[in-house]
Amino acid sequence: MNSENLNIDKAELKKFSDMASRWWDLESEFKPLHDINPLRLNYIIEKGNGVSGKKVIDIGCGGGILAESLAEKGAVVTGIDMGDGQISVAKLHQLESGLKVDYQLITAEEIADKHPEGFDTICCMEMLEHVPDPSSIIEACSKLVKPGGDVFISTINRTAKAFAFAIVGAEYILKMLSKGTHQYERFIKPSEISNWARQCDLELQDIIGMHYNPITKVYKLDKGVDVNYLMHFRKN
Ligand code: SAH
Repeated sequence: MNSENLNIDKAELKKFSDMASRWWDLESEFKPLHDINPLRLNYIIEKGNGVSGKKVIDIGCGGGILAESLAEKGAVVTGIDMGDGQISVAKLHQLESGLKVDYQLITAEEIADKHPEGFDTICCMEMLEHVPDPSSIIEACSKLVKPGGDVFISTINRTAKAFAFAIVGAEYILKMLSKGTHQYERFIKPSEISNWARQCDLELQDIIGMHYNPITKVYKLDKGVDVNYLMHFRKN
């Protein structure tokens, strides 16, 4: 794959790069990612039967919120992202935290070519809705994971409710996210992900919704996947 046809959207990468200095600021637009992190980390640990000692890759790791928390639990973590600012912030932050993550500026497709079956666990959180061809990322996840290994995906559903909650609510009313963070057309239905996954030998194990209560400001995992959701697959 040459640099011309990489599966990236430069405007999307720049958007996150421009905000990257605030990645670890708990009062910034990244607060939601910090708030949901314990939920998704516990889900990964529970469904994947632990992460300690496992080789885990975090695709679209950004400033490293999930990647560092996985390293803290004893995983051997690689974090990849195609944004310079994101990877710089992630590398700087690990000096502060003392947690070790191997951060690389590389696409999922390229690292999958280099390290097929190289990882026990693949995580790709809140990233698929920012790439031109999400099915190609799912294919890369399947290539990267060892047989019997786990793949965890989270994104936003393409429903009227998701438009109301994730865009109008989160960006315009509650101002939790910067305006323009998400585009409705890029949201993905769980059935689309499971179809792509099935085509590359990833078998769906579980799907759960991620819910935000704006009154209590509390997130929880529960049934109902019409806005944010998390999926767990296992490689055959
Ligand atoms: N996964 C992280 C960050 C989510 S923000 C978390 O949940 O905490 C989305 C991230 O995806 C950004 O850091 C952005 O730079 C990255 N991204 C977008 N397109 C990408 C691509 N094609 N390859 C790798 N990373 C990408």
